[in-house]
Amino acid sequence: MSGIILFISSIGVMAQSKAVLSSRFFHPINTGDTLNTVKFFKQAKADRIDWLYCEDAGKLKILKDNNIKFSLAMHPEIPDSGEYTTAKYRIKDINGKPYIASWMKTWNMKNPYWGCVNNPDFQQLFYKTAVRYLNLGAYAIFVDDALFNVQLQKERPNEYGCFCNYCLDGFRTYLNAKGPTQIANFDYKAMREQLAKCMSDDKKGLLTSTSAEKNLINQYQDYQFKSVVTFLTNWKVKLKAFKSDVIILANNSNGSWNDIFSVFDGGIAELSEDKLNKPYLDSVFAVVAARHKTQIFSLVSNDIQLQYYLMAYNYINGHDYLLPWDIFVPQRQGSAERFYGKGDEISKLVDVFGTEGPQSKTFSEDKDSWSVTFQGSNSKKYRYVLSKFPKSKLGPSLKNRVTATSLGLDKLIIEKKTNDRAAMSKAKDSAQALQIYQSN
Ligand SMILES: [Zn+2]
Repeated sequence: MSGIILFISSIGVMAQSKAVLSSRFFHPINTGDTLNTVKFFKQAKADRIDWLYCEDAGKLKILKDNNIKFSLAMHPEIPDSGEYTTAKYRIKDINGKPYIASWMKTWNMKNPYWGCVNNPDFQQLFYKTAVRYLNLGAYAIFVDDALFNVQLQKERPNEYGCFCNYCLDGFRTYLNAKGPTQIANFDYKAMREQLAKCMSDDKKGLLTSTSAEKNLINQYQDYQFKSVVTFLTNWKVKLKAFKSDVIILANNSNGSWNDIFSVFDGGIAELSEDKLNKPYLDSVFAVVAARHKTQIFSLVSNDIQLQYYLMAYNYINGHDYLLPWDIFVPQRQGSAERFYGKGDEISKLVDVFGTEGPQSKTFSEDKDSWSVTFQGSNSKKYRYVLSKFPKSKLGPSLKNRVTATSLGLDKLIIEKKTNDRAAMSKAKDSAQALQIYQSN
């Protein structure tokens, strides 16, 4: 096979990475469900389960009986009345309507409304729910959609957040703290109307960046952001008083560590495919190390090769990695919303990571494909072909980022090709390539 080039990197000692299962739901969900959370957990030799939505004490007892450590997930739409979200606890947009996130509108939920961080009833509900989860045995609490009121701003840039009476009341305090307020007789109706006029002018493009109206808008947005930080900080203080070793985690989108996410001890971030490259991941982990946080990524992709690529990046760099099983992938044409990797293939990979000791990493390239392999230092024959990227199937953006550099190889040596490597390079997929190696 002509044209094949093999690079082998130096062997280094690294921190022990742990496999984390993010079984978003406890499987089997019902009698027709063939998936099994506990079975997969054991097969993949996972260390813990994070980001689990479950309040069923019976199911959680099964985890405890199997010595499985788990965190439980919360979000702004935790119900306040049975399974429902009532307006009393919730964000009110400028038109007085409760807020539903755009991606949840098609989900047909009983509890679609987001809580307002300045609402004392919601604050109490959020704290009590977390305590209930800790009492159910969670070692950590995970918060999805932790931007709360700021998410509305992000989604509707001209609507600035929540306008419930608690928020407007808090805004008076915020303004007073900055000096004498221009609104002598602050009343909710006047304030809401004033902000509504600002919003309308803003939408019409009438505001200059220095106008008084623009200034008021900027202050309202800043106030909403700070309200979320205050809410989470108070929640964390109360929770740590209840259980001093509790860990709080958030879905810090693409590894963001803004002031809201920085309240948390760690992040488990959904990562978009376009962020899957070494320079980006390195830059996030530099911030994580500087702030003494933890970070795991959940790749939003149903491409198993890209999932393996991310696992390899984390393994090579000594970070914990997420097993690609029961993860959320937004609906695309012909694809499911949840993605499940193959248990036997993933468990083989975890075996290599966990038992082979210091690894050599190999990146190979020929004219048709790239592949990544690992070889344990104690094993002459066992070589796992981590992933194989057929160039023809990849778009230009992916082609550019899968290079020796993007795989984190610091020292490259060209190795003489052999027959079995040539055979490996012809393999259709990683499982077939693995077979070729094991039979040689
Ligand atoms: Zn509010």
